[in-house]
Amino acid sequence: MADDIPFDKNLDLAPDTVDEPMPGVRRIMADNPGPFTFRGTLSYIVGRGKVAIVDPGPDDPVHIGAMLDAVRHETVTHIFVTHTHRDHSPAVPAIKAATGATVYAEGPHRAARPLHIGEYNPLDASADRDFRPDVALKDGEIVAGDGWTIEAVATPGHTANHMAYVLKEHNALFAGDHVMAWSTSIVAPPDGAMSDYMASLAKLAKRRETIYFPGHGPAIKDAPRFVNYYILHRKAREASILYRLARGETDIPTIVRTVYIGIDPRLTGAAGLSVLAHLEDLVTRGLVATDGQPAIDGVYRLAE
Ligand SMILES: [Zn+2]
Repeated sequence: MADDIPFDKNLDLAPDTVDEPMPGVRRIMADNPGPFTFRGTLSYIVGRGKVAIVDPGPDDPVHIGAMLDAVRHETVTHIFVTHTHRDHSPAVPAIKAATGATVYAEGPHRAARPLHIGEYNPLDASADRDFRPDVALKDGEIVAGDGWTIEAVATPGHTANHMAYVLKEHNALFAGDHVMAWSTSIVAPPDGAMSDYMASLAKLAKRRETIYFPGHGPAIKDAPRFVNYYILHRKAREASILYRLARGETDIPTIVRTVYIGIDPRLTGAAGLSVLAHLEDLVTRGLVATDGQPAIDGVYRLAE
C-alpha cells in the first residue's frame, strides 16, 4: 500500500536506555511497542546542564525513572509536548513534580470538530484529557533555554493540538506523530482532520529543517524530500478513493478493502477512520456526496 514512501524501520535502540543521535539531543524510548507506536514512544532531552524534555511519554514508572536518571546531575527547565495522546503526555505530571520544569504545549486535548448527533468518539481512550500546559504556545513562538532555542510550529491534523518543535541551533525538528520515518501518520476524525493535516504537511515542506526526530522510529534525514513523499502518498490515497467511487456508491469497509490491500488486521479500524478523514475533506470540497454528515457507517458517491 504505502511502498511509495521510502520508509526506514532501522532503529537499533533498547528500551529505556539513553543514546545521542546528534550532539545535544539525547533520546530514550519507552517500552510500549505496538501497531501504532512501532518499537515505542521516543522522549528527547535537549541541551546539557539546563535541559528541555520533549514528550515525556506514557505514564510508565520505568520510563520516567530512566529519564530522571539520564538528567540526574542536570536541571530540567522546560517540558515540551507535541500532542496529547496517551503514549506522549501522561508522564508529564511525574517529570514536572520531580524537576519543577515549566510545561509548554499548544493546549489541552480537543477534537478537530464537534461530534455529530449519535456519533461516539472511537479515539476517546487514546487521549490524555487531564493534560494542561503551564504555557500555551502559539504558532511561531520562540522559547529560549540555556544553549538552545525552540520554535513552536503548529501542525494540526493528527490531533487538533499537535505542535512540532524546531531546534534552531541544529536545523532539526521534533516532529511528534505528524511525520514519522517508519509509517504514515494516523489521521482519524473527530480528533484529527485531513484538511488540517495536508495544510500542516504543505507548511513543513516549505521549511528548511533537514532532520526530523519523530515520536516513533528513526530520525528522518533529508526531511523536506520525505515530507513531499508523504504529501504525494496522501494525494494518491485520495485518488484511489475517488477512483473506487467512480465505479459506484459504496461504504467505508468496501473502500478499505479496495485501497488497503494486505493491511495488518489490527489496523483495519484505523484505516477506516483514515478513509473517513479523506471523505470528510472530499465532501467539504464538493467532490463527494453522502446523506447527512460524513459518518463511519455512511454511503458515499461522487458528487453530481
Ligand atoms: Zn499520536
